[in-house]
Amino acid sequence: MNFIETRGNDGIKAKEVSFSEAILSPSASFGGLYVPKELPKLEDNFLQNHINSSYKEVAYDILKAFEIDIDESEINKALDLYDNFDDASNPCPVVKIEDDLFVHEQYHGPTRAFKDMALQPFGSILSSIAKKKNEKYLILAATSGDTGPAALNTFKNKENIQVACLYPSGGTSDVQRLQMVCEDGKNLKVIGIKGNFDDAQTALKNLLASSSFKDELEKDGIKLSAANSVNFGRIIFQIIYHFWSYIQLLKQNEITFGEKIYLIVPSGNFGNVLGGFYALNMGVPIEKLLVASNQNNILTEWINTGVYDIRGKELKLTKSPAMDILKSSNIERVIFSLYGDKRTKELLDSLNENSYFKMTEEETKKLQEYFSAINSDDEYGVKIIKKYADKNYIMDPHTATCIKAYDNLKEKNLKTVMYSTAEWTKFSPTVLNAISQNNEKYDDKTALENISKICNVEIPNSISQLFNSTILHNDIVNKEEIESKIIQFISK
Ligand SMILES: *Cc1c(COP(=O)(O)O)cnc(C)c1O
Repeated sequence: MNFIETRGNDGIKAKEVSFSEAILSPSASFGGLYVPKELPKLEDNFLQNHINSSYKEVAYDILKAFEIDIDESEINKALDLYDNFDDASNPCPVVKIEDDLFVHEQYHGPTRAFKDMALQPFGSILSSIAKKKNEKYLILAATSGDTGPAALNTFKNKENIQVACLYPSGGTSDVQRLQMVCEDGKNLKVIGIKGNFDDAQTALKNLLASSSFKDELEKDGIKLSAANSVNFGRIIFQIIYHFWSYIQLLKQNEITFGEKIYLIVPSGNFGNVLGGFYALNMGVPIEKLLVASNQNNILTEWINTGVYDIRGKELKLTKSPAMDILKSSNIERVIFSLYGDKRTKELLDSLNENSYFKMTEEETKKLQEYFSAINSDDEYGVKIIKKYADKNYIMDPHTATCIKAYDNLKEKNLKTVMYSTAEWTKFSPTVLNAISQNNEKYDDKTALENISKICNVEIPNSISQLFNSTILHNDIVNKEEIESKIIQFISK
């Protein structure tokens, strides 16, 4: 299957590209993104037929339907990485916490957050394409805390790939920072920047657009790519687990085939819920996608009013930092699906030029056929974490935002799957504050140990061993120094 551009074609780039081209060079005409030309239709009995399949088998059959230009052996090699999750046959278990509410735990991979679900296989695929083409790539990643560790973990020591990872210094948890600065690999560079996540993301976008930077890389025969969720190579792996949600409810006899379900997704860059939107359009019986956001309520506002307005808005730092966002990249793919490329270009041009766009009433209605949204604040999150910890279920602050959607957005009495995007171990000080109902400042290590004792839960090895690891990446720099730091690293 080929991929087309969300903002139409500029007459210079190819009108259609293959999957491997779309993931090697994810930037399309006019700054747009690549999307599949059409979504594959799976056979009618696909869901029932996979009730007893392993995750890898489901994944393989969905990927196959996309007819991607990746060798079978490479696909299998990528999917084998799910063997490193806690349970190889069920890397993302779906767990019941209320009569009609299930948590899809997406954090059982090596870095304990949902980014592993897509980045693990993506890293393997990207490296294999680069190798096959005999090309070298520099992957730039900007992270608010979870993408960085997952990208570094998947790309470390992979052939033909180097990674430069930017994180906001002071803007991540201890665990997230240690996962990055202790990651060992000759091909990895980790840089703390003085600023917030939006600054890191802006710095990354500037580098991607900088011709002097590209020239420098070219001297070393290196091309640029991105591992952010604008890359369809990540999105494709994020479609699969929404099928898994449905199959697991079937398997647990919680629904009968055809019965619709709600999905609740804690959202930031909109990649996770976009996967759900594609799954819905591929035929998974999903009633609606319920989007949860935090104090940065830009997505809630957009879905409820059709207006995307970041004029004068500032990013608020919250206890669910992976959802702290102003410009959410993947809404573009939804806009394209619903209103086409001309309209996408109009709206996104307006957003870039005026920090604002407004859809028509009709367009907004159409959006609301698929999505509802609600936001909550940290105070609410803390209450929810306490409420469920008392029932012996520990959730992280991102996951907790889903409960607001569960309580307020369901119009029908249907089974609901909410996504848990991070393990409590990544945000343990907040979780301990919630459980102990105090505001004390804990470091991660103390918080982890306390929660483990109070709630009688284990800390996974991959987390506890971080505190004895050597810090290998010490750079914390101003925005202006990023480019030269990376060039230094490349030409080593
Ligand atoms: C990345 C992330 C999110 C947001 O996911 P998007 O796909 O960007 O919407 C939510 N929670 C956690 C813990 C994350 O790491």
